[in-house]
This record gives sequence, C-alpha cells and structure tokens, in this order.
Amino acid sequence: MKNIQYRIGIGYDIHRLVSGRKLVLGGVFIPFFKGLFAHSDGDVLLHAICDALLGAAGLGDIGVHFPDSDKKYKGISSLELLARSANKIAVRGFRVENVDTVLIADNPKISPYRARIINKISSVLKIPKGSINLKATTNEGVGPIGKKAIASYAVALLRKAVRG
Ligand code: MG
Repeated sequence: MKNIQYRIGIGYDIHRLVSGRKLVLGGVFIPFFKGLFAHSDGDVLLHAICDALLGAAGLGDIGVHFPDSDKKYKGISSLELLARSANKIAVRGFRVENVDTVLIADNPKISPYRARIINKISSVLKIPKGSINLKATTNEGVGPIGKKAIASYAVALLRKAVRG
C-alpha cells in the first residue's frame, strides 16, 4: 500500500538595491532605476523558493548547492537555479504540491508583473499556475527592508509516495 508523505519547507532571502544592476524578480525583468546586488542575478523571490524546496526535501540550502564562491554561478539566471533545485527534489521522488510567497518591496509595484512571474515559475516547476501564489507588500517605511533592499519569504509543500 502506498501512503503520501507531505513535507513543508521555508525560504527567506534579501538583497540590497544598488545602482547599475538590472532588477529581476521571479525571472522577469522589471524596469527600475536600481537592481539587486548579488553574485547571481539577485532574484530574491526565486532564491527564497529554491530554499523552501530544498528545505522541504531536507537538502540544506541554496548556498550548499550553488555556492556564490564558485565562478560558474556568477551572473547565472536564478530560473536555472530554480530548475536545478526542482530537479534535485524530483530525483528524490518529491513533487511540488504548492508554493506560496511574500515579496517585500516599497517600489516598484509588483502587481503588473505578477501574472508573468507566476507563468515563469509554473513552467520551471511544471505545476499549475494555481499552485503558485505571490503576495507583495511594502514594509510601511519601517527600517531599510523594502526601501534599500528587497526581501522575500517562500513556503513550499512537497508530496512523495512512500510504501506504507
Ligand atoms: Mg540570494
């Protein structure tokens, strides 16, 4: 008899907003006068999702699998990191049930890009768009998060068929 095992994971990431960088969130280029400083493209949303997926599978974190000290990850698209993270959990028998996220940014507004971001994540994870949720909020001007940096939280639920 087969039982379904469920596992939950959480992810968090933050990157500083700096001049001279492109802003990429959820794999989508967003016109803005600043971008996120990072070794990769700085896509905090996808990094948080990677950590949620890896965490749910008990596989550590994004830094373990794709260290920013490794030159081969310099400037890498985080869609590629998400695809590789998804592959790592898939080969261990896990399927993604759903992903929920929170993006914290005072500017720019995320809502015009929400559908495109969800499309991208859906196609990389190969799950329905309705299984991915993106919530955006400001930090109400409290502290530097949202103003000087963009942060993101994600949770992911994975399922796996196990012998009962
Ligand atoms: Mg990051």
